[in-house]
Amino acid sequence: MILILTPNTDHDSAGYRQLVGYLGNLPNITFRAHQERGTEQTLTEVYLIGNTAALSTADMEALPTVERVVRISQEYRILGRHHDDQRPTAFNYNGVRFAQDNLTIFAGLCAVDTPEHVEIMMRALRDNGQVCTRMGAYKPRTSPYAFQGYGKTCLSYVFELAGKYGIKVISMEITHESHVNEIHEALHQTGNPTGVMLQIGTRNTQNFELLKIVGRQTEFPILLKRGFGITLDESLNAAEYLASEGNRKIIFGLRGMKTNMGDPHRNLVDFAHVPTIKRLTRMPVCIDPSHSVGTRSRAPDGILDIMHATAQGVISGANMILVDFHPNPGKALVDGPQALLLEELPLFLDDVRIAREAYEKRLRLMQRPLR
Ligand code: PEP
Ligand code: MN
Repeated sequence: MILILTPNTDHDSAGYRQLVGYLGNLPNITFRAHQERGTEQTLTEVYLIGNTAALSTADMEALPTVERVVRISQEYRILGRHHDDQRPTAFNYNGVRFAQDNLTIFAGLCAVDTPEHVEIMMRALRDNGQVCTRMGAYKPRTSPYAFQGYGKTCLSYVFELAGKYGIKVISMEITHESHVNEIHEALHQTGNPTGVMLQIGTRNTQNFELLKIVGRQTEFPILLKRGFGITLDESLNAAEYLASEGNRKIIFGLRGMKTNMGDPHRNLVDFAHVPTIKRLTRMPVCIDPSHSVGTRSRAPDGILDIMHATAQGVISGANMILVDFHPNPGKALVDGPQALLLEELPLFLDDVRIAREAYEKRLRLMQRPLR
């Protein structure tokens, strides 16, 4: 059960103290308060755990400072959508809004290679009105002999160039807790010219100790990729690990499933789950068509498979797109074969716009009364 308190409830107030005193005396119930500081107000949610079935919603609603009570099902206690649950499905970070009702595009390099490529990419994004990107500095690779990313040595120039071209959020995978600190330090040393969304890759979806550490920090939002060989339920529970540690700025990413049933694509595209995740949870949903499809194959209609997959996710209501581009894919150190060309960026953005407009038209259609 969750008690949602009146906005800006002061934890030193008599009402709050009375509430905590009352809850502390309830048999077989433990509770934990979570504060979410927004720009306009601070919200407190109190999570009750234990024999909550014995509690009456009306009684709890009558307690001092309580505005609303949500009775939760067992699944995804924090991130799930529960009966009468009006908790937010959106958050803001560094001036960008992430929500279940909008769409943000993160086009960029799979992996940072040279400062020149980073600058060319950032400039193309700015010239096309984009404020977000993806840039990998820490790369989890199948072979220990493959390029592992430039790590912290590239962070300063990546952040400075992002600031120079007005990029507000960079999605960047981390594979170890020390990377969070390295990113924090590099941002600090460069004067916070941009923001970072910490990406947990598909190979780490069930690295529970990493999830706990990343969930404990609230400086950076988190993009959690679905595990490529586990059920959706297991991946959503991984997201719940992040939330249960305190971070609520979480986006869930679909990136295809590892099975040869998806051949000749790199993974089996799973974007039919976009609306499912929005129904089960309050997280905005990201699609990664590059790692799902994995090639620059083109259908006979002239459209790249990656663009087809993107449109399929967007027309189903996806909220974020993570997509690989490269100024010179032949020189890319990671995933060159799936990178789109910079000349294709305006085309890609227009194609996404068409799919998003079609999704919005579908929403309006559903409001038409049945005859
Ligand atoms: C990536 O986005 O660069 C990546 C490695 O993705 P995934 O974890 O989905 O394979
Ligand atoms: Mn990649």
